[in-house]
Amino acid sequence: MKIVVGIPASEGIAIGKALVYERESNNEIDTLQLSSLTPNDAIKRFQEAISISISRLGKLARKTEVEIGPNEAAIFDAQILICEDDDFQQSVIKKINQGIPIDKAIWIVVDFYISKFAEMDNDYFKERALDIQDVGNQIIKALTGSNPNALMELTEKKIIVSRVLTPSDTVELPKKYVLGFLTEFGGPTSHVAIIARALNVPAVIGIPELTHQISQGDLLIIDGTNGHVIINPDTKTLGKYAVQQKKMVQNQQELQKFAKIQAKTQDGKLIKIQANIGSVDEVYRAMDHGADGIGLLRTEFLYLEKKDLPTENELFDTFKEILSAMREKAVILRTLDIGGDKDIPSLVLPKEENPFLGLRGSRFISDAQLRRIIITQVRAALRASSFGNLKIMFPMVSTLKEVLDLNTLVNECRSDLLANGYNIATSVEIGIMVEVPSIALCAEAVAPYVDFFSIGTNDLTQYVLAADRTNETIAYLYDHFHPSVFRLIQIVVNAAHKYGKWVGICGELASESLATPILLGLGIDELSMNINSIPKIKRQVTRQSMNKSKEILKTVLDLPTSKDVRKFLSQNSINDI
Ligand code: PEP
Ligand code: MG
Repeated sequence: MKIVVGIPASEGIAIGKALVYERESNNEIDTLQLSSLTPNDAIKRFQEAISISISRLGKLARKTEVEIGPNEAAIFDAQILICEDDDFQQSVIKKINQGIPIDKAIWIVVDFYISKFAEMDNDYFKERALDIQDVGNQIIKALTGSNPNALMELTEKKIIVSRVLTPSDTVELPKKYVLGFLTEFGGPTSHVAIIARALNVPAVIGIPELTHQISQGDLLIIDGTNGHVIINPDTKTLGKYAVQQKKMVQNQQELQKFAKIQAKTQDGKLIKIQANIGSVDEVYRAMDHGADGIGLLRTEFLYLEKKDLPTENELFDTFKEILSAMREKAVILRTLDIGGDKDIPSLVLPKEENPFLGLRGSRFISDAQLRRIIITQVRAALRASSFGNLKIMFPMVSTLKEVLDLNTLVNECRSDLLANGYNIATSVEIGIMVEVPSIALCAEAVAPYVDFFSIGTNDLTQYVLAADRTNETIAYLYDHFHPSVFRLIQIVVNAAHKYGKWVGICGELASESLATPILLGLGIDELSMNINSIPKIKRQVTRQSMNKSKEILKTVLDLPTSKDVRKFLSQNSINDI
């Protein structure tokens, strides 16, 4: 038995076997080993790699057909045909017999096929050149043992262990088989932490040397509340955690009662409790958990699985489905927020030294091509607006000029759509996220030009403390309970209320019951969070009074460190974690 410690990223206890997901295989070493194979062994390995690739492509084709459609699935079927093609296989074997290392032999033949397709007059065939390149990648991956689809192939309940997990890794996951997550990299608001909380499974991240300490199939216990992981526990420890796990499940069932109630403080202030979602399925879960609306629709999910950018019509269909399902309840649609730690297959952004400080989110409006992505989203959203209660929100805004430019962009989209006979709801609120300290500090200048502010404390914390939210080595600095975060929120709330605008919080801080009294004291109008936290925060709001919350706030704002804030709150408020 061994205990390792990391950053607690999602509460709860999980007990199960490890699936070690090796995303980055060391291709250089692997290909070196490949080049020393005899021709006979190399041919055998090549034939095995072909069978593995055909099987993986077949699975991808079936999944894509069900989830996206037959046209998209056809790409994989065409790739299977290339793998099966006798001429293709014989050409590679011939090169291997000539003494060319296996990986080079594959690329020579793949390149030859690519050039043949690229020379064709027909545009369709020209574009297929890329698909052939992908076949080459698939076969090499199969040869080097790297298994990009290991997560997709999950068929029994496992704890996922990986160095990193990106949005494109987790999009493949059959979520019902995930018991929990452990990663070597990442901070408390990195993608894997958000996914874990959305799935209601425990996660511990930032565990040094994790993948060297855990082997495939090891029995693990995750204590996501304390950030502990027990590898191959003894019977006594296993029994202790099994009892604790049972209690937690019972607690959660108890909490579910609060999903149905309205979140009203003891002195009658009603707080809207909304859901953060990142897929259509979650709309229905959000309603089950008592969400008063969708406070943050992360639209990135529409881009993660696709090789091409979604069209305006495709976006419109999804937005319409979500808005119709929520009926009169608000849906705050956040335009695409990629760059930083998030990327999508359909867009290759220039590599940046400091991506979190680079071309990200609404900064796309300053680039003629990337601007089109925002325009397409805004047009699709406005077209869908007549099917429900839509609000549009722009992420990663740093200056008043950006706010004014975004407003102009929305007005131009609106005028053009109306001129072309589309229906648009008469009122669509337009707001911005407050994630950058500059916009918080200048909120008073911005307030007249927006309908609302939604504070993204995940990014606000990283920018105000200059602590990369995904970097586990400085995770000790990254704490959204730092008094500087609350001081910035206070500036925003005061400015917004002065102009009659409302303020929400959609960062992870909203789901911390320890923070509820301060957020109430600050005058926040709505809180938006991962679905599973909704009942817990509803209960927490009902236990507070505005007077007491304001008193707590006064003290908190003068405390010097996040540790002091946490301590004071634990001692002076009802803490129901
Ligand atoms: C935030 O920054 O607080 C936020 C909600 O956005 P994301 O976590 O998607 O960056
Ligand atoms: Mg953010």
